[in-house]
Amino acid sequence: MTGFVEKWDELIDWKKRSASEGRFFIDQLKARGVRKVLDVATGTGFHSVRLLEEGFETVSADGSAEMLAKAFSNGQTYGGHILRIVQADWRFLNRDVHGTYDAIICLGNSFTHLFSERDRRKALAEFYAMLKHDGVLILDQRNYDALLDGKYGNKHTYYYCGEEVSAEPEHVDEGLARFVYRFPDHSEYHLNMFPLRKNYVRRLMREVGFQRVDTYGDFQETYQADEPDFFIHIAEKE
Ligand code: SAM
Repeated sequence: MTGFVEKWDELIDWKKRSASEGRFFIDQLKARGVRKVLDVATGTGFHSVRLLEEGFETVSADGSAEMLAKAFSNGQTYGGHILRIVQADWRFLNRDVHGTYDAIICLGNSFTHLFSERDRRKALAEFYAMLKHDGVLILDQRNYDALLDGKYGNKHTYYYCGEEVSAEPEHVDEGLARFVYRFPDHSEYHLNMFPLRKNYVRRLMREVGFQRVDTYGDFQETYQADEPDFFIHIAEKE
């Protein structure tokens, strides 16, 4: 995973990524008067740096110390930001991260890395508990429904930023989505993910207590299709 992420980070220019993502998350947060944000899936820091640039008070958490180290140095490289990093597993978030937040973000198709329902419920409940009474959770995911239901055919390829990196499903069933990522130097990485169905995630969010869940579809990749490649859930506590 580390090798993959290093490569991803080298190739996917942050400026291009920012342009393709636009202001969607930032506008959603600003419209709600959010000031304090917890990025629970910091990874190499892309979203945390974006939040700091926009003036949000930001804490950057991740389960991986290696990722946080990379995020910290990226923060310095991209704009001289000093990230406030905390190593924390989502399932035990309240133990390791202090305070409450106006918003939690879990972006970059990160939630797909939990393989048991128990862990998914636990993680969402921990997110819920760390939010203020009127807080909001923003969580995105790949559109696995389209893949599972064969709407893309089984050879649909996702291209990222100028088609330099491709991701193609190798195996898809209700319990596993395995993708192969191909880089321009012909290296390949295989990643296992849990294929989250959109309505399943919405149901889990409601079941842990979120009162309102709005789901948006968007187009982060250059591939154009009728179906969105990603969904973004915005879950409100009240
Ligand atoms: N948001 C970033 C982005 O879009 O570039 C990073 C996304 S990366 C795909 C997913 C991150 O989630 C990884 O850095 C991984 O360490 C973290 N992660 C996965 N499972 C986790 C867990 N149970 N607790 C905390 N972090 C976790």
